[in-house]
Amino acid sequence: MKMRISKIRRILSFGLAVSVLAAAGCGGPHKIRNVILIIPDGMSLSDIGLARWYQEGRPLIMDRFACGLVRIYSSNALITDSAAAGSAYATGHKIESETVSIRPAVVTMPGVGRTSPEEVHRPLPTLLEAARLKGKATGLVFTSEFVDATPAAFCSHAMDRYESESIAEQMVYSGVDVLLGGGRAYLVPGPEKANRKDGEDLTRVLKDKGYAYVTDRGDLTGSSALSRVWGLFQPNGLEAEFDRDPATQPGLAEMTRKAIEILSRDKDGFFLMVESGEIDTFGHDNDPIGIISEVLAFDQALGVAVDFAVRDKHTAVIACADHATGGLSIDNDEAIDDLVSVLKKARSTSHAVRNKIKEDGSNLMEVLENDYGLTGLTAAELESIRKAGKEDLPPAIGRALAVRASISFSTEYHTGEDVVLFAYHPSGYKPTELVESGVIQNVDVNRYIQKVLGLDLESLNDVLHVASAAFEARGAKVVLDRQDEANPVVLVTKDTDVLRLPVNKNLAILNGKKIELNGLVTVVAGRIWVPRQAVDLIR
Ligand SMILES: [Zn+2]
Repeated sequence: MKMRISKIRRILSFGLAVSVLAAAGCGGPHKIRNVILIIPDGMSLSDIGLARWYQEGRPLIMDRFACGLVRIYSSNALITDSAAAGSAYATGHKIESETVSIRPAVVTMPGVGRTSPEEVHRPLPTLLEAARLKGKATGLVFTSEFVDATPAAFCSHAMDRYESESIAEQMVYSGVDVLLGGGRAYLVPGPEKANRKDGEDLTRVLKDKGYAYVTDRGDLTGSSALSRVWGLFQPNGLEAEFDRDPATQPGLAEMTRKAIEILSRDKDGFFLMVESGEIDTFGHDNDPIGIISEVLAFDQALGVAVDFAVRDKHTAVIACADHATGGLSIDNDEAIDDLVSVLKKARSTSHAVRNKIKEDGSNLMEVLENDYGLTGLTAAELESIRKAGKEDLPPAIGRALAVRASISFSTEYHTGEDVVLFAYHPSGYKPTELVESGVIQNVDVNRYIQKVLGLDLESLNDVLHVASAAFEARGAKVVLDRQDEANPVVLVTKDTDVLRLPVNKNLAILNGKKIELNGLVTVVAGRIWVPRQAVDLIR
């Protein structure tokens, strides 16, 4: 009898081991097919607490998955910006603030590797690029403009995060399958600041490349036939969750659900990055309502991702801010009502309030009271709100509301504290186990994703970003043709061969014949980088 039971146990445990292995797929024990990385940009621990109190203390979805802390400094600063932080997640390297997925020149922080002179500013392979080369589907979902630092870090490379024109072009030519968010002004020529100065209509390029290009919510949610899609629902960033018109603009959770629906059709799996970008914006604006709106939007998107992952059994979800913004502090030592009743009077964020106020300011008091719950303003507060003008209105009214809820902000900029790590993996394997510490580095998140997806970014350096000296080593001549200033072309000549490589594109033209490359041609700080495939076109 005893023997039988132990035999049954052995069979059962063997069966269990087999099913765990099957769930993990082949490869390492924790290897899975899909990863969803969610970045609540600028979300601090106190922002999370405020959102929880806003719903009367009920737990948030994220609460179930909190499992550690992430250190966020860049290669040269205690407090990172979104470009260096997004790049750390995308590439696994701490790099210089304000730069986008390129190796750092300046390294001043402890423990960060230095760059050899010939590698300074060399583009770094990203998770999205590696996933794509492995045959996985890839996606980016966000509420900001697509050229913003966080989405940009996953599929472009630039010396300066504000080189929007070339970042936009690189993203269009990056091969990303699904991209949903804001910023369509960056795709087309025109008089607006965000419009393209190189005269190119990138929506036409998208269509030529076989993408569906949608600008209305109904075209996204109403179609089940979408496979490769760019959906940009505002000329610039999207409206906040509390403010948006659900008839025309999809929410973050809805876009996340749609992206997963499309990407999960790929048998090879997918990598999806989702950013809740405006927590940071409202942190800069010291607007507690905006922060709550966007923390809750992040929470809903996380819920969508985890629901899918639990059903799918081959998906890991990791969420972590890139840094905190604003230094929000809950200073209320009274009952919860004093905090919540003040905040609940606001029906929209400071941005919607700003848009509602007439040019002559005649409806100012009415809008502040009805839409933002601001009453009993002192003469000094009114003076500072009037003086702020439209552009600087959000922080002026945000701080007035914060005072009434006994909330304060320490800064309008980023802060240097650690951020919270959230993770779900079907076998329970967490990023903290990779380094055997509850406090990890932002670059460890990247290493974790490489490990569970079986990616090797290091091996892609010489596949994706090769110095143009490689052409010269083959006896060719290389010049950067700037005849058309807005559309530079790398010109490679050897004997009778002429190879043209338009900058910021994945395109080679060899003796007039077009060839699509597996990576981008970039120029960073005057140096040319090309995929190995382009070098191999010259024999
Ligand atoms: Zn950020």
